[in-house]
Amino acid sequence: MYKGPLDFFRGIIDQDKKDDSAGFLCFYKFTNDVIMPGMSERFIRIYKKFYLDEVKTHLMTYGALSGSCANCKCLDLKIDSLQCPECKTEIKYIAFQNIKDHMPKMLRVSHERPQIVFVDYDDFKRIEGEEKAKGILG
Ligand SMILES: [Zn+2]
Repeated sequence: MYKGPLDFFRGIIDQDKKDDSAGFLCFYKFTNDVIMPGMSERFIRIYKKFYLDEVKTHLMTYGALSGSCANCKCLDLKIDSLQCPECKTEIKYIAFQNIKDHMPKMLRVSHERPQIVFVDYDDFKRIEGEEKAKGILG
């Protein structure tokens, strides 16, 4: 009985045991959530509109060895911290100061916590600076 993509997938597998002519096209089509061998997952930067305050409230910036909370400036946060130990804000965004040094960490975090959004550190710092300047000037 077909109930959803996964059941369909199971159906194809069972069918495959009995009959070699079972369709591989269906396998590809219905299993978007299954990582196919040879498929290369890479990070590509995208642009999205954010409210700076929302990002800043829930952002961990990560330097060479440890993270810091952008909300309260608390230092020495672990990369796996779900919230800041000081201000208790939930960590939803992470910005690495040097992405190239932290690619394995980034891959691991994205695997373990797919809801985490990685933001570009330079973008964040630039916009934060612009906002500060606006505050001073106007
Ligand atoms: Zn904090």
